[in-house]
Amino acid sequence: MKIKNSMEDFVFSKINAILAEYGDVCKCEKCRTDIALLALNHLPPHYVCSDKGDTLTRLNLYQPENEVDMIREIAKAVEIVSVNPHHS
Ligand SMILES: [Zn+2]
Repeated sequence: MKIKNSMEDFVFSKINAILAEYGDVCKCEKCRTDIALLALNHLPPHYVCSDKGDTLTRLNLYQPENEVDMIREIAKAVEIVSVNPHHS
């Protein structure tokens, strides 16, 4: 049985939305990955069985009080990476 961290999907989907609001931040794949790694290291993982779908976990993640914390971590990561990008 395969497991996956559904927080990854959530963070990656939110990064795109958050970066769209930061006009002057680099949006290359390397920077987006760095942002995701930083944010994911500060957020609790939500593991689900990949063959059962993660709808329930996602619904839980989308509770507003959780989402505010996650978006705050992602925004922090965006600011850190934009000041110190690792792309070439
Ligand atoms: Zn970049």
